[in-house]
Amino acid sequence: MPEETNSILELRGVTKWYESAPERRILDGLDLVVGAGERFAIVGPSGCGKSTLLNLLGTLDAPSEGRVIVDGIDTAGLSEDAVARIRSEKIGFIFQMHHLLPQCTALENALVPTLALATRPNPTEAADRAKRLFDRVGLADKLDRLPSQLSGGERQRVAIVRSLINSPRLLLADEPTGALDEDNAKRLMELLAELNESEGLALIVVTHDRALAATLGSVRTLHRGKLESAS
Ligand code: ADP
Ligand code: MG
Repeated sequence: MPEETNSILELRGVTKWYESAPERRILDGLDLVVGAGERFAIVGPSGCGKSTLLNLLGTLDAPSEGRVIVDGIDTAGLSEDAVARIRSEKIGFIFQMHHLLPQCTALENALVPTLALATRPNPTEAADRAKRLFDRVGLADKLDRLPSQLSGGERQRVAIVRSLINSPRLLLADEPTGALDEDNAKRLMELLAELNESEGLALIVVTHDRALAATLGSVRTLHRGKLESAS
């Protein structure tokens, strides 16, 4: 038990295939323990199963075999609603495409995940937290902008604030820099690394870019359905 209190996420013997191609094991007996506050990148060529793995880590999809344990809770026996509640409370997501609501301001977009919490936070406190985070990512003066009035890098920083608004213990990012130019991509990775330190949350970033992955200091490769420490 003591060694479990410090892990935010565990995968045990996770195997995944899709019903349309059951003969192909995208993930094959994968084990992983993510400690609180830990960070690393996952790399591998396109199609190797990175997004599949991240979806399982984030409880957006379930394994074909094996167990996914979030903050000590085995998700296998739980209802979809119960899993969704755990996800809203403990896990933040950033995707390649920011998926911001075009008709909502930056601030409104950032507050959307608070609507999914079992107990909704006080609106003033939630807005204050959002403003602190906007300050943190350098967007304090752009709260009232619509997504169309922001640059690609700025939109992705709004998505970061949105991912952090519920104070998750784990942040999962799938190719978060995929739509950014090189400079903005580097800056975004550095920002994620800083947030991992200052907010004390675990961070896992999936990317096919090894140079960007190196920003996080620790890199693992997804190879033949398992994670290997990269050299
Ligand atoms: P990556 O993110 O590393 O590019 P993915 O996890 O998206 O890889 O995909 C891994 C493999 O699984 C690919 O061959 C892909 O075509 C296949 N795949 C992904 N999602 C599905 C799905 N929903 N149904 C069937 N096959 C899928
Ligand atoms: Mg992918």
